[in-house]
Amino acid sequence: MPNDLGHNWRPKGSPRSPEVAMPSWPIAIGRGLRMQCPACGQAPIFQGYLKVNAECAACAAPLGRVPSDDAPPYITLLVSLHVIAVILVLADRNGHMSALTAVWIFVPLIIILELLLLRPVKGMVIAVLLKVDMLRKKQPMRPPNG
Ligand SMILES: [Zn+2]
Repeated sequence: MPNDLGHNWRPKGSPRSPEVAMPSWPIAIGRGLRMQCPACGQAPIFQGYLKVNAECAACAAPLGRVPSDDAPPYITLLVSLHVIAVILVLADRNGHMSALTAVWIFVPLIIILELLLLRPVKGMVIAVLLKVDMLRKKQPMRPPNG
């Protein structure tokens, strides 16, 4: 279909209409942090702990095509290790905590914090990427094997 200029092609970098109608930034990010579909807020993003549903069960937003990849673990580590560092410094202000005690206290604390933060952070990253319309290309339907 020809565009406004009568051409059939779209210049690289020109705006295009987003695939998914999205709410405002605060609403989309809030829904992502609550692990609900950022577009509608009616259905969960995940099936299981971190497996993303291919599509939203309520609005069919293509959640499975959002390339969140390594960003959620990176952000989770960045935030949680800074929090742990502050707690560690405050807990050992007088410098009498042994290294073994610190390991026994803070390694489980780090693991728990990572596991608690990873899902909401991944939901938030999916919300941001869906809001900026950054999606993987649709895969052509594969014929069933054998
Ligand atoms: Zn939805």
